[in-house]
Amino acid sequence: MIKKCSEKEIRNIPFSPPDISDSEIEEVIQTLKSGWITTGPKTKELEKILANFCNTSKTVCLNSATACEELNLKICGIGPGDEVIVPAYTYTATASAVIHCGARIIFVDNKKDSTEMDYSKLEEVITKNTKAIVAVDIGGVIADYDKIYSIVEKKKHLFKAKEGNSLGARIQQKLNRILVFADAAHSLGAIKEGKKSGSIADFTSFSFHAVKNFTTAEGGASTWKDIEGIDNEELYNQYQLYSLHGQSKDALTKTQIGAWEYDIIGAWYKCNMTDIMASLGIRQFDRYSELLEKRNNIISKYDNMCDELGVTYLKHYTCNSQSSGHLYLTRIPNINEKQRNEIIIKLAEKGISTNVHYKPLPMMSAYKNMGWDIKNFPNAFDYYKNLVSLPLHTKLSDKDIEYVILNFSEIVKEYL
Ligand SMILES: *Cc1c(COP(=O)(O)O)cnc(C)c1O
Repeated sequence: MIKKCSEKEIRNIPFSPPDISDSEIEEVIQTLKSGWITTGPKTKELEKILANFCNTSKTVCLNSATACEELNLKICGIGPGDEVIVPAYTYTATASAVIHCGARIIFVDNKKDSTEMDYSKLEEVITKNTKAIVAVDIGGVIADYDKIYSIVEKKKHLFKAKEGNSLGARIQQKLNRILVFADAAHSLGAIKEGKKSGSIADFTSFSFHAVKNFTTAEGGASTWKDIEGIDNEELYNQYQLYSLHGQSKDALTKTQIGAWEYDIIGAWYKCNMTDIMASLGIRQFDRYSELLEKRNNIISKYDNMCDELGVTYLKHYTCNSQSSGHLYLTRIPNINEKQRNEIIIKLAEKGISTNVHYKPLPMMSAYKNMGWDIKNFPNAFDYYKNLVSLPLHTKLSDKDIEYVILNFSEIVKEYL
């Protein structure tokens, strides 16, 4: 039968499928056959690759960015009685990691028409209990850490480091100011003023979840800037302990002759990366610069479309920064939430999957129940209400991109 190829043909465009090549598959097979499938040599290799890529001394791979975010905070001694400033406009993991540590979240609204926090509001909510600020590199665009560090310097007199001699207390004492964390779940490979994501904030967490730019199916990594007077090996070991039950010897060390005995030094967590996941990452890394380049090309096509339509969008590339091109956020002028949802349905009817990044956290039941109210975050609401995230991934063909552009333009024009 001859397939009818009319102009009306519906294509199926998923939002963000993983891009896995034969080389990742080969590496996973080799690992499966090697006799070592949990945390081991492949995980250590991926950690070295990532530290090298981020221009940092050390990286730890874990089973998610959420685990990384939580352990980053814990390792820095943040817990009950502390306040951590978090954007209202992010994914829940940014905030829930803080809650899991027993600290209090303080949400900050967006800057008007920006995915970033309103930095003047951020400054206003700093108190003597503020221990950390978490910024999020939405869509792969690195937040304004220069600004955050200047605010932190200005408020230095309010900071009170944790007392004692624990690793967390020593980190706080050495830095002697509010700590700066990057939720870089989207921004692996992004660069700002010559600095790579990972080498900008004090501690950074990346996500390798299946929908992210770089994937190990599930997974994440933490990296940090060297802190004078803090031993990186001690820091690294603390991540190993927290992520593996507080067990004094890991499984690989225990395979040495006669080395069966171990101690449990804390009743901690289980969130290590497996070598199966790491194998995916090692081979995916070989292709990563090519994948970033592909994203860059798609973004410039979408940018042209938006410029022609008069639709605003998140800018990924500026004179001094280069995003990792993770999400394509469009904002259709003068529409409300209901109209935005109609557009999403019309696109879905054409086979085009879209999303909304993000419904602000104060609109979510869990955070509403804690007393947060979206009324106090008007810029976050405004940013969300007319936003549509378009499919942006490396499995898109030129035909797919043309198809998205054609249909998005046609549908959006009805609302302009
Ligand atoms: C995906 C994501 C996370 C969580 O990553 P996991 O690896 O799934 O834990 C955290 N923050 C942001 C902004 C994300 O998009």
